[in-house]
Amino acid sequence: MIQLYHVSMVYPNQVQALSDVTLKVGRGEFVFLVGPSGAGKSTFVRLVHGEERPTRGHVIVDGRNVGRMRRSELPLLRRHVGVVFQDFKLLPDRSVLDNVAFAMLVTGSSRRDIRRRVPALLELVGLRDKAAARPNELSGGEAQRVSLARALVNSPAVVLADEPTGNLDPDTSWDIVQLLLRVNQAGTTVIMATHAKNIVDKLHRRVIAIDCGRIVRDEAQGMYGDTLDSAAAEAAAALEEQAGGSVRPFSGLAWPGRGRGDGRGGSSGDWRRGSGGGAGAGGGWR
Ligand code: ADP
Repeated sequence: MIQLYHVSMVYPNQVQALSDVTLKVGRGEFVFLVGPSGAGKSTFVRLVHGEERPTRGHVIVDGRNVGRMRRSELPLLRRHVGVVFQDFKLLPDRSVLDNVAFAMLVTGSSRRDIRRRVPALLELVGLRDKAAARPNELSGGEAQRVSLARALVNSPAVVLADEPTGNLDPDTSWDIVQLLLRVNQAGTTVIMATHAKNIVDKLHRRVIAIDCGRIVRDEAQGMYGDTLDSAAAEAAAALEEQAGGSVRPFSGLAWPGRGRGDGRGGSSGDWRRGSGGGAGAGGGWR
C-alpha cells in the first residue's frame, strides 16, 4: 500500500527532516508513528499526501510514485489518501455540511454523489444534527469528527492522521481513536502520528518510532517507549561528556532497538477510481 525506499527530505532551509527512511505499510494496517517533536512525523505525512516531494528516494502509494506525480494527478491521489490534522483545518465560513462536501467538489464528484454521500458520513461520525453549524460553534471533538468525515468522504484507501488528538481532552481523544479503529476495521489503512502514550500503549498496534529523521524502532505490537526528546538526550550526553563519561543521568536514553514490522507488502495495482460505496470508509480504491 505505502512504501518508502531510502527517502530523505531536506527542506530549502537545509533542515534534514528525514534521512534514508525505508518502510512498508500493508493494506489494512493500523500504524502509530511516534517520536519527539521535530522528529519528522509531519514530513512523512506530507510526503505520502503529495504535499512535499522527497529530496532522494521514492514514496510509493499503491504502486504509484508520489514524488514523480504531475500536479494534475495530485487530486486523484488525494481521493485515495485522506488526511486529518491536529488543528482540524476546517473552512471557518462554511457549514459542517459544506466543509465535508467541499472535499468531494474539489476532486470532481457529481452533485448527486455529494448529496448522497455527505449526510452518510456525518451520520457515521455522529454529527448529522450539526450539519448547518459553523466550525466556531463546535467543540474540539466535534470539529475533529468533521475533519474525519471530510477525510473519509472520498472513500480513501489510506487515512493519515497527524496528531489528531493533540488538541483534545482524554475522553474526546478516545472517541476519535475509536472512530479511526472503526474506519480501519472497514479495511482502510490508518497511519496515526501521535504523542498520546496512553493510547499507543493500550492498543498494541504496530509502532514505528522516528527520531531525528530516522526510523529507530518498528514493532508489530509496540508500545510508545521511553521517549526522551532529542534536546534532552543531547543535554544528557553533554553532561556525561563534561563529567568525563562517569555520569549516567538516565538509563535507556536511546529508543529501544529496532524490531521487525509486519508490513505485508504493497500492491502493484493501478490507480482505480473510487466508486463511493456505503457510509463506512473503504470501498473505492481497492
Ligand atoms: P514532527 O512532525 O515529528 O514534529 P516535522 O516533520 O514537522 O516533525 O519536522 C521535522 C524537521 O523539519 C524539524 O526540524 C522541522 O523544524 C523541520 N521542518 C518541518 N517543516 C519544515 C518546512 N516547511 N521548512 C523547513 N523546515 C521544516
